[in-house]
Amino acid sequence: VGGTIKEPPMHVVHIAVEMAPIAKVGGLGDVVTSLSRAVQELGHKVDIIFPKYDCMNLSNVKDFHFRQSFFWGGTEIKVWFGKVEGLSVYFLEPQNGMFWAGCIYGRNDGDRFGFFCHAALEFLLQIGVHPDILHCHDWSSAPVAWLFKEHYRHYGMNKARIVFTIHNLEFGAGHIAKAMQHADKATTVSRTYSKEVSGNPAISPHLYKFHGILNGIDPDIWDPYNDNFIPVAYTSENVVEGKKAAKEALQQRLGLNKSDQPLVGIITRLTVQKGIHLIKHAIWRALDRGGQVVLLGSAPDPRIQNDFVNLANQLHSSHGDRARLVLTYDEPLSHLIYAGSDFILVPSIFEPCGLTQLVAMRYGAIPVVRKTGGLYDTVYDVDNDKERAQAQGLEPNGFSFDGADTAGVDYALNRAISAWYDAREWFNSLCKRVMEQDWSWNRPALDYMELYHAARK
Ligand code: ADP
Repeated sequence: VGGTIKEPPMHVVHIAVEMAPIAKVGGLGDVVTSLSRAVQELGHKVDIIFPKYDCMNLSNVKDFHFRQSFFWGGTEIKVWFGKVEGLSVYFLEPQNGMFWAGCIYGRNDGDRFGFFCHAALEFLLQIGVHPDILHCHDWSSAPVAWLFKEHYRHYGMNKARIVFTIHNLEFGAGHIAKAMQHADKATTVSRTYSKEVSGNPAISPHLYKFHGILNGIDPDIWDPYNDNFIPVAYTSENVVEGKKAAKEALQQRLGLNKSDQPLVGIITRLTVQKGIHLIKHAIWRALDRGGQVVLLGSAPDPRIQNDFVNLANQLHSSHGDRARLVLTYDEPLSHLIYAGSDFILVPSIFEPCGLTQLVAMRYGAIPVVRKTGGLYDTVYDVDNDKERAQAQGLEPNGFSFDGADTAGVDYALNRAISAWYDAREWFNSLCKRVMEQDWSWNRPALDYMELYHAARK
């Protein structure tokens, strides 16, 4: 690829059930939008087929309008069209009410998404579109892979190749195995995670077509120089000033003491994957060290949510001026936390890629992470990973630890906080440095294009 030969544009159709910012639960939603935008920027045609959820935030859809209807699966399916972050999105609304459930997940998901995948292929067939690539994601749109190979490939869409991306192997292993079989190419979202899962029976027979491509973040969506949710616009040039203003605004907003203390931010789904016991330990350790802690997190499991409600009550009474747990999903607040934190902690037990640490760096917050999956591939410890970073053409950019125990967290967090207290000039230059690293889609989008081309060989 490259040189003087200009590749003809490709037509890529994503079939997905999450998309930021209209219907996002986790990283999958971010990736569908930002990967699509990056590939479109390279001059290719990208469309997205998406369920029309009743709970969707339509204010972020431009030129939303009814397009046509078709009949399939014993029901009328209305097709709506609109632009999301500059991307063309076709919204399918089965009139049997399948997506009038008030939520993205949680109601007969297997049936609903299976129906949606089938309807999406039917729609492409009926309007006579011949994409080069059909890109499906996780267990939820995995059925596209085998439905296409078993049925639609024979009806004129024979040009298309199937690319299947695993964002998290935890969910829906049966679907994933089956899609791995039928996909022309399969990916997951970092090289290290691809190695970590290579022994999984859903993956191991298919290693020859399985690749790890790191996710990026969209620098326009995450941009401290152009962000309505933070008080002072900043770049790496005025990072100290920008982050100071954001820290004060955050302290003000959450009722924390407005003093200059190291502030540790945590932004996460509260699930076992994210290292709950390590998160709890880190909160106490940061407070012991005289720091402040802000946690923004929501738990799908009510027992875990309860547990954190109790912890919040305890902390708010014992350390009310230094700790705040906000137990909800709040995108605007997340921006202020990224900007106002000195450190963002990501102590995951496993992490396919992780976007939190990448956003943190974009906002000049130093990642403190466990060395697993994509965290290993993106965070290079200032004390231990100089050579590994250099091999990637990078400078070290954070603090990390190996074991999934509290001693590990202490090892990384203590060094991080000590650096803040004892070497502030150096710490500030580290903030500037991480902001200047490129964790956008520039590189990964080229890797995906290469993969798309290889799928067509
Ligand atoms: P996962 O997809 O496993 O949840 P990622 O790190 O890939 O983890 O993506 C998490 C994304 O969700 C990040 O953009 C992060 O900022 C966001 N996020 C997580 N929890 C919350 C929350 N409670 N409120 C707002 N944003 C959140």
